[in-house]
Amino acid sequence: MNVELINTGSELLLGRTLNTHQQWLCRRLSDHGYLVARQVCVPDTGTSIQQAVREALDRADIIIVTGGLGPTSDDITRELIADLFQKPLRQDPAIVAGLREFFARRNRPMAESNLVQAMVPEGAIVLPNPNGTAPGLAMKVEAGGSKIEDGTGANTPSSILHPRSPRWLIMLPGPPRELHPMFTNHVLPLLQREMPTETFICRTLRTTGLGESALQEMIAAPLSQLVSAGLQLGYCARPGEVDVRLAARGPTANRIVGEAADIVQDLLAKFIFAEEDDELETVIVRTLTAGRLTLALAESCTGGCIAHRITNVPGASAVLLAGMVTYANVAKTKFVGVRPETLAAHGAVSEAVCREMAEGVRRETGADFSIAVTGIAGPTGGSPEKPVGTVFIGVSSSSGTVVSKNLNRYEREAFKQITAQQALELLRRSITG
Ligand code: AMP
Ligand code: MG
Repeated sequence: MNVELINTGSELLLGRTLNTHQQWLCRRLSDHGYLVARQVCVPDTGTSIQQAVREALDRADIIIVTGGLGPTSDDITRELIADLFQKPLRQDPAIVAGLREFFARRNRPMAESNLVQAMVPEGAIVLPNPNGTAPGLAMKVEAGGSKIEDGTGANTPSSILHPRSPRWLIMLPGPPRELHPMFTNHVLPLLQREMPTETFICRTLRTTGLGESALQEMIAAPLSQLVSAGLQLGYCARPGEVDVRLAARGPTANRIVGEAADIVQDLLAKFIFAEEDDELETVIVRTLTAGRLTLALAESCTGGCIAHRITNVPGASAVLLAGMVTYANVAKTKFVGVRPETLAAHGAVSEAVCREMAEGVRRETGADFSIAVTGIAGPTGGSPEKPVGTVFIGVSSSSGTVVSKNLNRYEREAFKQITAQQALELLRRSITG
């Protein structure tokens, strides 16, 4: 089953809007076994949309077009596609009624331009949009009878629909809050009904603390037999972590992926922090909550990045007592009890200060666990003994304090992200023993 995705909108090509539909739709589709083989982005001017659809028809079984269904002059997807397939557009009275009700409910007058959203190409299925005004459209594209040329005006054989039809062409509105529920509630059921696909199993094991190549060396050979049997093995490296993706198709998919996951879990046990979409901070908040344990933070060079990540997790208030950004030496002394003598003897970026920060913030807040970080983000401030990138990360609990020293040579924002990742991982390992 070959899916192609066409995202329309000049704002995407001007870099004004991030094309989140690409990621969102590819993820949902692949989770359900529909692999997107190609994705293109085209402007909503001229006839680019028609050209993109015409090209996709040569290859794809399912074509999804996003954007350009609204009421403004740059919303031309519906008209261009109706024209391409030579389908007359007819006003759908039910959509008109829905539009009038939509505006009436909001106490707003309806501009007549909205009525174009009620135009439906002959034979298309209307996908309701309770979150906006433009319904989606699904068209079964039959072989023959359409204006599918190659753009040169010549009706060459390759440009005519192949008899391997049927194919589906689906048009979805641009706004994510309209597209997402429409896809889940209407498109997916339609695809599963009309274009069922074979079983596809995909599991992602998320690791931290190992580089991409080191990780591959540990698992590639042990998985080679399963790869021959159809396992698709993929890696995705991000700052401070590497995802291992295990996927397979067909009736043996479940067994193959299951066996592969067992092997990877065996080999990488202490590096795996989660499966699928769980973030490190989510795992930490969940584990601390389950154990009725609390956390406090004393951050210097990460500037609150760890607190930010922890507080992104719903329910963080059950866990996080305080997160202090003790940036200046006086703040380290005043708020988390670092001794001036320690600062004078070792400097702010030192194992001794990190230890006192971790123990001090735990003492001050009464938390069960604490994290402290102090380092040199750069680009200036390094020395031969403590080069830019030097960072100390401490975790303290009733069973003691551990401090690790790392060298994170990245620009400031990546430095903060990676340091926060290492700190959260050190905490995770301290909690789970
Ligand atoms: P449209 O219906 O194409 O005019 O799109 C309406 C709005 O949806 C745009 O202004 C964007 O904010 C948003 N939008 C359209 N396409 C995308 C996309 N591919 N990714 C994220 N947002 C989009
Ligand atoms: Mg638009």
